[in-house]
Amino acid sequence: MKNTRRNFIKMSALSAAAIPFANISADPLQVNKSDVNKPIVLSTWNFGLVANQSAWEILNKGGRALDAVEAGVKFVEADPKQKSVGLGGRPDRDGRVTLDACIMDEFSNIGSVACLEHIVHPVSVARDVMEKTQHVMLVGDGALQFALSLGYKREKFMSDETKKEWKEWLKNNSYKPVINIENHDTIGMIAMDASGNLSGACTTSGIAYKIHGRVGDSPIIGAGLYVDNEIGAATATGHGEEVIRIAGSHLVVELMRQGNSPTQACKIAVERIIKLQEIRGKNVRNIQVGFIALNKKGECGSYCIQSGFNYAVYDKTGNRLLDSDFSVK
Ligand code: ASP
Repeated sequence: MKNTRRNFIKMSALSAAAIPFANISADPLQVNKSDVNKPIVLSTWNFGLVANQSAWEILNKGGRALDAVEAGVKFVEADPKQKSVGLGGRPDRDGRVTLDACIMDEFSNIGSVACLEHIVHPVSVARDVMEKTQHVMLVGDGALQFALSLGYKREKFMSDETKKEWKEWLKNNSYKPVINIENHDTIGMIAMDASGNLSGACTTSGIAYKIHGRVGDSPIIGAGLYVDNEIGAATATGHGEEVIRIAGSHLVVELMRQGNSPTQACKIAVERIIKLQEIRGKNVRNIQVGFIALNKKGECGSYCIQSGFNYAVYDKTGNRLLDSDFSVK
């Protein structure tokens, strides 16, 4: 048979039909519906507390997790005092503030933008990519043109203070991301709504003074964020290159599918990063990565490489900041 594209499509359809879908249980975690802790929202770092508050207002009224996570992270994106997300974000080494974000819902709809400039709410542009286009990711000028075409306002970024810091940095011009100094970094948020559906969002200006055009894990579905409505959700913060290397958030969700608790799943993913650092002859003390995870029962957890990472959890018992356990003691 000639290997035409049509034949290939036909053959793929036949082999897909042969996959034993019957083995995939509709409820792999065997969730007892009356015991589920919902709604619940969790997010990275201490700015997660205010972000959770915005998300909770939606969740508590029976709103959708997708709307909650978008509203939650938008709160941080709009805050000019947060120097690693949205409007207040630090620039790259060329003095340009480039933003990365993504969003994922309970149907595995996904949207993402990377290296987006001048727009305060990259997460909403990511949601528009998801809901208004046939694509899943737009980058750079294309992402900006798309946002402007939808009526997003072009904003001026970089406060005088941030500009001054960047100019100071230029004097030494060394590329050394410093871990955990100000508890800044990405906001990643995952939530389960009162209907038991999961969604997540992740948004950042990335590592300060990065090379222009650098994209981290945060807008990459599977790396900075992953949601599987049958299993759970996970999101990451820290050195994006190391999260991408292990497809981190997807890995955490798959580890939960295998029966690990959210904390165990995050821990195994962190240990894989550490092992790869060792194999590659790199010093693990120079990097930080933290994961947070939530399963379908409404259990949550976290793990990171070294001390200093915290995350905020809001459920019916209230909103609180928790310190993550870590590997390198
Ligand atoms: N993960 C982000 C990035 O690599 C930065 C961070 O969370 O600190 O761009």
